[in-house]
Amino acid sequence: MYKFETFSKEETFNLAYKLAEKLKGGELIALEGDLGAGKTVFVKGLAQGLGIDEPVTSPTFSLIHEYEGRISLFHFDVYRLGSPEEIEELGYEEYFYGPGVTAVEWSDLITSHLPQEYLTVKINRSYCQTRGDMRIITLVPQGAYFENMVKELVADDSLGD
Ligand code: ADP
Ligand code: MG
Repeated sequence: MYKFETFSKEETFNLAYKLAEKLKGGELIALEGDLGAGKTVFVKGLAQGLGIDEPVTSPTFSLIHEYEGRISLFHFDVYRLGSPEEIEELGYEEYFYGPGVTAVEWSDLITSHLPQEYLTVKINRSYCQTRGDMRIITLVPQGAYFENMVKELVADDSLGD
């Protein structure tokens, strides 16, 4: 478990951008956090880090958006799924086990459908007396591949502690 603190949406974006630079394709990033936590901001940073120039918008109603970049990005928001099984109707396996990067907002609603190895990004709002509104971003790697990736990120990121 690795914790980062961000004090603006730009800092959250930059953390995601640096993570994206380590992605090769085939990874799943599972995003947890309340409404307004910063999950979509994080995905925007991932997208730019993957070389995607198109504006990224929340797929709350469409459930999935696809973007072409250095690596394709499949952006899910499963908040409105009636049940975890409904993700099967979207053909989720093609994305989760495909060559692109998949980012899933509200991934805690479909844990039964996540692959064996993935990276969880938990975003919690907090408040700092001196610096105000902040986010605590916890990275929880599942599997050695993501464990190494997060260690590298901590090593070269001054935001890490
Ligand atoms: P979610 O997708 O989790 O519902 P969004 O990413 O859409 O949340 O929105 C996050 C909101 O919080 C944005 O309005 C953003 O400007 C604001 N914000 C304030 N501080 C931060 C921060 N440190 N990191 C990310 N977002 C922040
Ligand atoms: Mg969102």
